[in-house]
Amino acid sequence: MLLLIGFQLHWIKNSKLLIEEQFTNRVSMALCTAVEKMSTEPGCCAAKAGADGTDSPSCTNQVRKMMKDSAFDRVLRSSLAFYQIDLPYEVNVTTKDTTLTEIPPYSCSLTPLLAQDDHWLQLIFQGKQDYFNLKMQYMSGASVLILFSICALFVFAAYYLIKQQKISEENRQFFNHMTHEFSTPLTNIQLATKMMQRKSTSGVRSPYLDIIETQSNQLRYQVENVLHLATMEKENLKINKDLLDLNELAREAVDSMQLQIEEKKASVYIHPAEQPCQIRGDKFHLRNVFRNLIDNALKYCSHSPKVEIDFYPFDQGWCAQVKDNGIGIPSSEKDKIFNRFYRSPSSQETTTRGFGIGLAYVKRIIDLHQGDIRLGSALNTGTCFEMYFPNTK
Ligand code: ADP
Repeated sequence: MLLLIGFQLHWIKNSKLLIEEQFTNRVSMALCTAVEKMSTEPGCCAAKAGADGTDSPSCTNQVRKMMKDSAFDRVLRSSLAFYQIDLPYEVNVTTKDTTLTEIPPYSCSLTPLLAQDDHWLQLIFQGKQDYFNLKMQYMSGASVLILFSICALFVFAAYYLIKQQKISEENRQFFNHMTHEFSTPLTNIQLATKMMQRKSTSGVRSPYLDIIETQSNQLRYQVENVLHLATMEKENLKINKDLLDLNELAREAVDSMQLQIEEKKASVYIHPAEQPCQIRGDKFHLRNVFRNLIDNALKYCSHSPKVEIDFYPFDQGWCAQVKDNGIGIPSSEKDKIFNRFYRSPSSQETTTRGFGIGLAYVKRIIDLHQGDIRLGSALNTGTCFEMYFPNTK
């Protein structure tokens, strides 16, 4: 806004200078035209210059008189009117000041009337400042109007932005509360199912209880996904920096997904590294990261899924790799899958459910750990996600 105001002021100043310059030029042209016209009048004394090329004093006086004459006044007025100058003026004949290098404003040399270039006809405009201000008034008015419109737009935009932010914050809080409200009864259902399975006297697992357990697990996963969305929207999301072992995190994630893995008839292999893969990070969120990647590997596979998890040291830390034998991701989509709510068109057509939040959450969490995630994929062969975590130091 300040730049814009500065620019407008500069523009107004330049415009004023331009108007003054145009006015000066128009007056000069009007004056010269009038003097030219007068020089063609009979009785003009240009020809009366002496043999030595100087004007006699009587000749100069005659010219002075001529300038005050009503005939000249008429010529001058029509000339000024031609150049659209309608300001009151005074006429003055001055002797040229030899010390001045520049031509005085609103003046014209009287050489067409006199042989010597030592007399000037000058006009004095008393009200010229008011005239300039009047000319500038439209320009300044337009400037103020533009500035005012921009200011109003700015205020309007800011008002709506704040309003939108408020709505978004309310939505986030609503999601948070809603998911927490869903979480508690779900945990109770899961606990009760486990208790009932344990208390079964026959020692055979009830298929109905198995259905309740798998479905409530599925529901919990979706509820967690919505919670992740709320987590992602938090601008200053704080993460813990505990000393963790990536190996253990992957193991915990796989253990918590056993039912799902069995249901999909999948095989998940964790190839532990020879040394502990220690990083600094947030246990809760990183376990979710592994769960999301494994869940996708199970979901996006048309036959029995096979997931392999490996760990490699690299110069600045550890790399965790989650590889599957699924449907793969087309190269045109590789940049988009980390965007929030993005779901591949092919997965939207299938019965695979999802919100398109998982990978966006994974990326956000890895970014918060100052890490990096890379993707390698071949259609109908499989996908490999590589997560790089910096050194514990
Ligand atoms: P969701 O799984 O809920 O759709 P994600 O953010 O986890 O959301 O994944 C976004 C998209 O990336 C998915 O719709 C899917 O098309 C693609 N995708 C993710 N992981 C895999 C994978 N392992 N194999 C094939 N496609 C995948």
